[in-house]
Amino acid sequence: MIYLDYSATTPLNKEVLDAFNEANLKIYGNPNSTHKLGILAKELIDETTDIIKAILNASAYEVIYTSGATEANNLAIKGFAEANNHRGKHIISSPYEHSSVTSCLNYLAKLGYEIDILGTDANGVVDLVELEELIREDTILVSIAMINSELGILQDLKAIKEVIKKYSHVSFHSDMTQAIGKINVDVTVCDLVTFTGHKIYGIKGVGALLRKESINLVPVIHGGKSTSVFRGGTPAAPLIYSLGKAITTVYLDFDKKSKHIEELYHYLINELLPDIAISHLNSKSGIYHIVNISFIGLKANVLQKALSDRGIYISTQTACNSDSSFSMTVKRLTGSDELAESSVRVSLSYLTKKSELDELVNAIKEIIHENS
Ligand code: PLP
Repeated sequence: MIYLDYSATTPLNKEVLDAFNEANLKIYGNPNSTHKLGILAKELIDETTDIIKAILNASAYEVIYTSGATEANNLAIKGFAEANNHRGKHIISSPYEHSSVTSCLNYLAKLGYEIDILGTDANGVVDLVELEELIREDTILVSIAMINSELGILQDLKAIKEVIKKYSHVSFHSDMTQAIGKINVDVTVCDLVTFTGHKIYGIKGVGALLRKESINLVPVIHGGKSTSVFRGGTPAAPLIYSLGKAITTVYLDFDKKSKHIEELYHYLINELLPDIAISHLNSKSGIYHIVNISFIGLKANVLQKALSDRGIYISTQTACNSDSSFSMTVKRLTGSDELAESSVRVSLSYLTKKSELDELVNAIKEIIHENS
């Protein structure tokens, strides 16, 4: 098997699983309980929170644990909108958001919020002049993902913040699901940041929202206080602990891991793909772990299936949106139907070997031959 779909999800790091199992078996108390086992579980969560804050330089933030980035985005956007609608109902976002962001925005639009979607340059990077023009007195939130999951479009959050900071009534959320643990991030430019464990070799079903302490929210999930007044439910201490382990281990030897991925990217793009005349690189914004390529004339789902039959796993569009071959995201960026119906995403990891890319490209050549 050759797995090249690390942006859909990552394999679980054994150390993370061991930490989870140990906490699950030994420290099974309810963190809300006041007896010793409950206190130990609460301590596990508090230690994890300290670790996450230290790694992400997020001392000014509350860490609100959720079931993943989808829930975290729901809380960041719907929770923020509801808590702040007395000040305005205008939100600005980008055309390259994950469905868990766009679905929240569409839902809010039905409730009477006004959503503006920014224009971008040819690489998908949002237009900062337009951003400033769009900000109004009733604008409450700008929500822009740091890295788009399908094309790897990298937004300059610092530059976006430079615009937003002139308007103290506007808060800034970024979905950093494809960025945290993949590149170095500076969460301090944002008021709300979301991410998930299963993209960083952690367990599926746990993620977090970082909330700057001045930001008010209305819970999406109501219930007992748990670790946060903004998210009800018994805190899943072992899962939370595993998230801390995942983020710690993913950033170990990070420069070495990043360098390896960068080398793989250049090997694929500069040495392997030029051999395939119909290949076209769609992702060009300078991050290395997400490579979006069209093989013009070969339908994406035909290629994906043929590769899957050979035990090689890549994706068409994103995992959350993969029922058709046509990529709206690639169409939006390139304007081309031809590229949009033939685009696949290869996502790389520090675990990826050069030989796996050789095998991928050889298999693609065979499939192109079979389908020509
Ligand atoms: N945001 C982005 C950019 C993603 O890539 C994903 C996962 O595909 C999500 C949000 C949703 O994350 P989760 O699966 O933890 O709900």
